[in-house]
Parts: sequence; C-alpha cells; structure tokens
Amino acid sequence: MKCPKCHAAMDSVRLHGVEIDRCSGCKGLWFDNGELDTLGAIRDSEMLDLGSAAIGNIFNGQHDIDCPRCDDIALLTKQLGGSGLTVEHCPQCQGKFFDAGEFTAYKYRGPLAPLRTLYSRLTA
Ligand SMILES: [Zn+2]
Ligand SMILES: [Zn+2]
Repeated sequence: MKCPKCHAAMDSVRLHGVEIDRCSGCKGLWFDNGELDTLGAIRDSEMLDLGSAAIGNIFNGQHDIDCPRCDDIALLTKQLGGSGLTVEHCPQCQGKFFDAGEFTAYKYRGPLAPLRTLYSRLTA
C-alpha cells in the first residue's frame, strides 16, 4: 500500500493484535474501519504515532487525496476528529488517515483532556 499523501510505502505495524499501516515517509497512520476505535481504547497506543506533528500539519493541508484501499477512485473527505483536528475519511471503505501527531491529539481530546494533562504532569 502507498501513502495517499506523500506516496511513500506504508509499513504494517502491529500493537496488541491490531495491525495498522504507517507511512515510511510522512509517518501518517491509516486505520481500516473499526481499527481506530480498537486502538483508541488501548493504553499507550499513541506510541504508534511517532512522526513529527509539525510535518503532519503540513500534510494536513493537502486536498483531493485518493483512498489507498479502494481500487476504484474514492476521494477521502475531511472529517472533524474533535479538538480542532481534521482527519481524512473514506466514504466507501470507512478507513481513516491521520497525519503524524493527530492520533495522539485524538486520543487525548474531549472533556477529560485537561485532567489527563494535569495528571500526567503530577505523576511525571
Ligand atoms: Zn506519507
Ligand atoms: Zn476507501
């Protein structure tokens, strides 16, 4: 599979039996349908998101991105992921693309995010 954004090869990475694809170039993450929910609930899963958020930000501005999974052309649509995040979503296979840094931000979004940040500071 090729990265829908920078077209580098994507590597399979596995955590607790869930396999997702990570770009060897921009370090974006591809989640097939359901994988995001599974991994979002796993502690420490943000370790998969090892790219630079600054680079992710640059790639986040791209438009007209083809789904890396669907053979016939399906354009990914932008979707709000909470906390001002914009992720790409395929309307056909329901896969999602997160630029580097976005999965970490996604995991710690929501009303508990400030509490979690405080907690991690207290326990650091
Ligand atoms: Zn890439
Ligand atoms: Zn698709």
